[in-house]
Amino acid sequence: MAAKLTTRSEAKKLRPVTDAVHSEGGKILMQILHAGRYSYSPIAVAPSSIASPIWMFDPARPIGMPSWWVKKTINDFALCCSLAQEAGFDGVEIMGSEGYLINQFIVSHTNKRNDIWGGSFENRCRFPLEVIKACRKAGGPDFMLMYRLSMLDLIPNGSARDEVYKLAEEVCDAGVDIINTGIGWHEARIPTIATSVPRASFTWVTKKCREHLHSKGYKVPLVTTNRINTPSVAEEILKDGDADLISMARPLLADPEFVAKTRSGNASKINICIGCNQACLDHTFSMKIASCLVNPVACHETKLTPVASAAPKNIAVVGAGPAGCAFALCAAECGHNVTLFERNKIGGQFNVAKKIPGKEEFQSSIDYWQLSLTTNPRIKSYLDVILGKKVPGRRVAVIGAGGIGFDVSVFLTHSTPPADRHEAFKEFAKEWGVDTTLTSRGFLTKAEPSASKHDVFLFQRKKGKVGAKLGATTGWIHRLALRHHDVKQFAGVEYKSFNNNEFVYVKDGVTQQLQVDSIVLCHGQKSIKDFVVKRNEGTVHYIGGCKDPSELDAKKAILDGHTLALKL
Ligand code: SF4
Repeated sequence: MAAKLTTRSEAKKLRPVTDAVHSEGGKILMQILHAGRYSYSPIAVAPSSIASPIWMFDPARPIGMPSWWVKKTINDFALCCSLAQEAGFDGVEIMGSEGYLINQFIVSHTNKRNDIWGGSFENRCRFPLEVIKACRKAGGPDFMLMYRLSMLDLIPNGSARDEVYKLAEEVCDAGVDIINTGIGWHEARIPTIATSVPRASFTWVTKKCREHLHSKGYKVPLVTTNRINTPSVAEEILKDGDADLISMARPLLADPEFVAKTRSGNASKINICIGCNQACLDHTFSMKIASCLVNPVACHETKLTPVASAAPKNIAVVGAGPAGCAFALCAAECGHNVTLFERNKIGGQFNVAKKIPGKEEFQSSIDYWQLSLTTNPRIKSYLDVILGKKVPGRRVAVIGAGGIGFDVSVFLTHSTPPADRHEAFKEFAKEWGVDTTLTSRGFLTKAEPSASKHDVFLFQRKKGKVGAKLGATTGWIHRLALRHHDVKQFAGVEYKSFNNNEFVYVKDGVTQQLQVDSIVLCHGQKSIKDFVVKRNEGTVHYIGGCKDPSELDAKKAILDGHTLALKL
């Protein structure tokens, strides 16, 4: 979808986004941005026909907007605001900074007009203030309006401090609810968001503006921005009173679980944005899909999210540079058993990069890999779980409800019975509700199963009863044993994804999410025939699981072995 909102049909397409945010209890604002002379268009417009030093089509000069066009553009902002409201947004942010159209009107560097939209400071600010008023009118009193104010232009002939503060006051008077901080035009020759910019370098600018507004009696909350990439830095800023709110964009591409990890006390597990811009802004400005260098899944979720492997492998990875670490993490997420070998420290060339002044941030990625690689992968094979090589978390989704899936569920919910047969029976009677005192009629009593070690959710693809193919006389025992331990059973399920702790599946055409700590794959077995075939000596017979691993059971295997022996 083009990044524009000018029609009702475009608004309709944004509904799934706003609905998804609201269903999680969030609020969402949409940014309205007119690029002006920064536009990637052969018919770029601007307050005056002055070429941008960056990103211009040929011919390099934008069209200076006639007055009617300025008024039409104000109406366009208002229309966009109404459509955003129709699309379910809770408000809009009017982009008044970074050197885009509104900012181009505000400063004399790009505004050489001599009509009511140029000249004096008052005239140059008319456009942003009219846009705000039109949006307020379009959105109504309860629709949130945020204005991104350029507090530090960092260009020649940019705004002076008093002008910024005056505009901040007028923006409040015009009806905005929140002011966001803009630092530096895109054409500024001072880095403002790159790796070399120390973390949270510009929050002092917001602080000063906030102090000014407070001194004038304005209580509008202020947002601060730029290179704020960890929860601890954000907390520090709020504690110091630099701002009321923190804005982040790139850190959420680097780790979409940023907030959830912070909230659950797992901030140390966040994949931190290193400020490189290589896969986010560099992609955007070269017309490629934005993503993230440290998280290639970003914006490619439908293609690159790890999915459970149907045939987990044992994999050795040699070299723990960025590629080796990324492979190991993704393969482990898919359920493979991965062993990573590295002669030196993990991180490869990142260990070199971090030595360069201004690139110290690269250590964040090494720390992330180090921690993630040593944490158990969340998708595990049933063999590893049963053999005790991997320990799943508290909430477990068991995938596959054949004999193995049932066994794994029992393993995860039941304790090993005592070796002593009398003690073992006592527990059995308690579990099933057998009255060993012989006092009740029918000798039944209330079943008191032991506490489960895990909360288990058992899934199968096939429709119908879960575990329908279990033995006719024992299937009910397995199903009931699991019910005693509150194992939830799901049939007719299509598996979609497992990302971080969210297992997504479709049942009866409805997409559902389940929060689990681990997934255990009970996918059956694969026969390995190659080694005997390669020898090519004598006649080779395949029996048991080697002949047919699908739905293997002991009865079939033993009969196979026995009957083949009789034939030879
Ligand atoms: Fe941050 Fe990723 Fe963009 Fe680099 S590519 S700046 S790590 S979001």
